[in-house]
Amino acid sequence: MTAPATPAPPTAATAPVFVTSRCAGCGACLLTCPVHAIRPLGGTLLVRADLCTGCLECVEVCPVDAVEETPVRDPQEPS
Ligand code: SF4
Ligand code: SF4
Repeated sequence: MTAPATPAPPTAATAPVFVTSRCAGCGACLLTCPVHAIRPLGGTLLVRADLCTGCLECVEVCPVDAVEETPVRDPQEPS
């Protein structure tokens, strides 16, 4: 009998939302986020996956639709 396969380790957490290149830098999402999960990083905005609750308030407030929901990948699908 062979040993059961070891489950793959979890990959890096992905935040429920991300900021696209359409960002105009108005700062509305940073001010709106209730948990301060959106941070400036190297001229762009990074959403902290460890803080983001997925409330989508940043998506609602962005005037240029630059914040998008991160697609959820089906773990059953081949990569
Ligand atoms: S609200 Fe939209 S345009 Fe404004 S800083 Fe955030 S992502 Fe950029
Ligand atoms: S979804 Fe909510 S918690 Fe996550 S970055 Fe946007 S405003 Fe913040």
